[in-house]
Amino acid sequence: MSRVHIIGAGLAGLSAAVALTGAGREVTLYEAGPAAGGRCRSYFDRGLGCRIDNGNHLILSGNRATTGFLDTIGGRHLLGGPGRAMFPFLDVASGERWTIEPDPGPIPWWVFRRDRRVPGTRLTEYAQLLRLRGAGDETTVSQSLDPRSALYRRLLEPLAVAALNTAPDAALARLLDSVVRETLMRGGRACIPLYPKIGLSETFIDPALAWLTARGAVLHTGRRVSGLATEAGRIAGFDTAEGRVMLGTGDAAVLAVPPWVARDLLPWLRAPDAFEAIVNLHYRVDAAPVDAVGEAGFLGLIGGTAEWIFIKPGIVSITISAANRLVDRSAEDLAAAIWPEVCAALGLAGEMPHVRVVKERRATFAATAAQQALRPPARTQFANLALAGDWTDTGLPATIEGAIRSGRTAAEVLAA
Ligand SMILES: Cc1cc2nc3c(=O)[nH]c(=O)nc-3n(C[C@H](O)[C@H](O)[C@H](O)COP(=O)(O)OP(=O)(O)OC[C@H]3O[C@@H](n4cnc5c(N)ncnc54)[C@H](O)[C@@H]3O)c2cc1C
Repeated sequence: MSRVHIIGAGLAGLSAAVALTGAGREVTLYEAGPAAGGRCRSYFDRGLGCRIDNGNHLILSGNRATTGFLDTIGGRHLLGGPGRAMFPFLDVASGERWTIEPDPGPIPWWVFRRDRRVPGTRLTEYAQLLRLRGAGDETTVSQSLDPRSALYRRLLEPLAVAALNTAPDAALARLLDSVVRETLMRGGRACIPLYPKIGLSETFIDPALAWLTARGAVLHTGRRVSGLATEAGRIAGFDTAEGRVMLGTGDAAVLAVPPWVARDLLPWLRAPDAFEAIVNLHYRVDAAPVDAVGEAGFLGLIGGTAEWIFIKPGIVSITISAANRLVDRSAEDLAAAIWPEVCAALGLAGEMPHVRVVKERRATFAATAAQQALRPPARTQFANLALAGDWTDTGLPATIEGAIRSGRTAAEVLAA
């Protein structure tokens, strides 16, 4: 039977593998790293003496491709969270705390009630969200919304930075619109925050690999693909350190690597080439201050350097997005600068504990108009090659949902 060779075992490659295996194709995955998962992975950190995720990942219940993927591989029960739409915030400067709790259905009753709105916001400010829908091809988030409004500063800006990983004065409004339309605009039922109960790999990667291997798929780790051979409009083979893999007549390939690798392998490819960092700081604590964040399990900070705090067993974990401005600061400097914010937010005191600072320098492509124009479709000029990855033209920013959809699309392109 013909085989599909999938190059790259991040979420996009795994999603393609699950879709293709489910459709009865034979699949082999080639992953350059020591384990599958790519930018969504967990590992044992010797310095901290525990497993950590490369960075906190949050999805929303409206991310249907993601929840569908987890349903298929049997990983849905491994997601935790408050079980309803709730987003607690703290304004670092004023000390004010509030929690946004959208109603389950699409009618946002909560914005009509002053005591349920973001403090200091007026009803009329919420209408600015509708302006995203009409945003032009180059309109940025800050051009589309009202940066002087309290709602922008206290809700829309932090949500935009988290979703797009790009500063709002550069980020494309249409990409935010695509997220808002599938989540906030559909009501609280589509906005329930979800995150791994244990770790990213335990939730997204290990169950996918178990599901795939149980159905005969093969994963080769430590197998970097270094070149593609083409012939008569198709991919004829590809090179690895172990030698060339030749494709049979009916065989196909999915290239599910990051864009800079895809451009090395396919020099004619137009693909995103500007990136934004995400910095995560994992502080090892004896007793996690779970009460400080309540049932949500996380807290958004307004006006701090730290943006989101997640509480995990033995770890207080901080996320800072759109972080190119921070990546050249030393880990020691960053950890010492953020710790007082964490203490103030969580009511902690005392010496800074052991900490691991993870700087993902190319966490996502920069969600700008210029980069959006470089995102290629899944279909290529080669009949037996499809592209996958959060950077392909999914219509979404670089997210788990985008990566998983891209893998499904690549599988559909090959099936067609
Ligand atoms: C710190 C951080 C926090 C994030 N937070 C969120 C979040 O809260 N919510 C959300 O939805 N998304 C979040 N994301 C984005 C999400 O992680 C990515 O969109 C997703 O993991 C991308 O998957 P991918 O398969 O497209 O790419 P990748 O994960 O990059 O997979 C590509 C794979 O290809 C492999 N590879 C590279 N070169 C080769 C080669 N030559 N041969 C073979 N294999 C190769 C790589 O090792 C990698 O495993 C976050 C990302 C980061 C980094």
